[in-house]
Amino acid sequence: MRTITDFSHALAAKQASAVELATDALAKATAAKGLNAFLHVDADLTLAEARAADKQFAAGVTNKPLLGVPIAHKDIFVTCGWRSTAGSMMLANYVSPFDATVVERLRAAGMVCVGKLNCDEFAMGSSNENSAFGAVQNPWDTSRIPGGSSGGSAAAISAGIVPASTGSDTGGSLRQPAAMTGITAIKPTYGRVSRYGMIAFASSLDQGGPMAHTAEDCALVLDAMAGFDERDSTSLDSEKAKVSIWRAFSGQIASKRPSNVEFAGLRIGVPKEFFAEGLSADVGARVTEAIETFKKHGATVVDISLPRTALSIPAYYVIAPAEASSNLSRFDGIRFGHRAAQYADVNDMIAKSRAEGFGREVKRRILTGAYVLSHGYYDAYYLQAQRVRRLIAQDFQTAFKSCDLIMGPVAPTTAWKIGEKSSDPVAMYLEDIFTLGVSLAGLPGMSVPCGFDHQRLPVGLQIIGNYFEESAMLAAAHRYQQLTDWHLQSPGGHK
Ligand code: GLN
Repeated sequence: MRTITDFSHALAAKQASAVELATDALAKATAAKGLNAFLHVDADLTLAEARAADKQFAAGVTNKPLLGVPIAHKDIFVTCGWRSTAGSMMLANYVSPFDATVVERLRAAGMVCVGKLNCDEFAMGSSNENSAFGAVQNPWDTSRIPGGSSGGSAAAISAGIVPASTGSDTGGSLRQPAAMTGITAIKPTYGRVSRYGMIAFASSLDQGGPMAHTAEDCALVLDAMAGFDERDSTSLDSEKAKVSIWRAFSGQIASKRPSNVEFAGLRIGVPKEFFAEGLSADVGARVTEAIETFKKHGATVVDISLPRTALSIPAYYVIAPAEASSNLSRFDGIRFGHRAAQYADVNDMIAKSRAEGFGREVKRRILTGAYVLSHGYYDAYYLQAQRVRRLIAQDFQTAFKSCDLIMGPVAPTTAWKIGEKSSDPVAMYLEDIFTLGVSLAGLPGMSVPCGFDHQRLPVGLQIIGNYFEESAMLAAAHRYQQLTDWHLQSPGGHK
């Protein structure tokens, strides 16, 4: 029993209670402590939520597919009760007085929170090694990173502790850890999921989303998370945003087709820039095989170009730090967060509190961000990066004229060794080359397990859709998962 669908069937058939499932998840979290995936666990809080779910079952509630199903949240989402640290010493003891909208909605759907998950500090990173609370291990090979920044969220599912988790993606942090740990994740269209209560990194890029084993499970959780929220000024309230993702997804997968033409009519764009130098041979081979599977079952493959792919790295690493430097100015030791124990005056207190509270990568981003926004450099860096961002978004729109979905690798390599790149920030930034463009354009993107490299490390297929095409992406991924079993494999062996 691994997927949400398995869990909810067991609950509906009274084969298990929510309390039993929560107890089991808590025991597994304890047994897998060495992974360092969980930052905060509180059995009393979890069991209280589970008992409330069981009460609803006893009262005859049957229309909530997520009722009683365990989930855990990336520590970037604030939660009443559990601490919310964003992986930072700055917030080591912070307890929020309110829940993030995402947390509130999943709780209303009846999901039971098992705890809070480790992540790179303020979601800045690609390996989870930037967490102030230590690196997370990849369940497939514990000497390796699980990807980042949602590394704890990915490891907790991959290790079979919880069937679903939340993550956030500013430049790839849902997709890349999913690829590195062999699970499924979707970053929605920017504005679909409320950012209220999601500790800010780069506000024009940050987007929350679900991680799970299957596309079907991601569709269920995303449907419950998404929707207009007046407390987030960039939350979308358009007609398209109002369509239920689950209903649209179910409609699409209900139209059964013979398996040799499962994907009839689907045009898949394959960007040549995603198969260039730097891509590992294994990753290239697995992704090509996955695209072949779509083709064999009726899809048409179209060669496309995303000519500014390489520019997404400098553009992102100007814009994201610029926004981060502004967002993180709120951590001054006065209002909340860490305050230095000794200081001479108020300026000294702010300086010392920030020096002690933030880690190296966060400081690097704040410095870079302050620099590119400063008088005299703003035009050369920040404005220029915004122009490139616009062009990158236009390139995707040109590509979508000839295809319905874009497919390629999520990351150039599989999971690397803990420590291998941690002293070389630029090498780490280059790992983001295939995910950053999607974030800059505000498009939805997914990672779907598509095989293994020669060391049995998971490889992810990236599926990119146009704005609001989440249900079509999830449906294509679901059909692919009906034809393959990569998503069913686990570090402990086959399901
Ligand atoms: N790796 C990217 C960064 O370090 C993206 C992180 C993210 O998506 N949160 O900024």
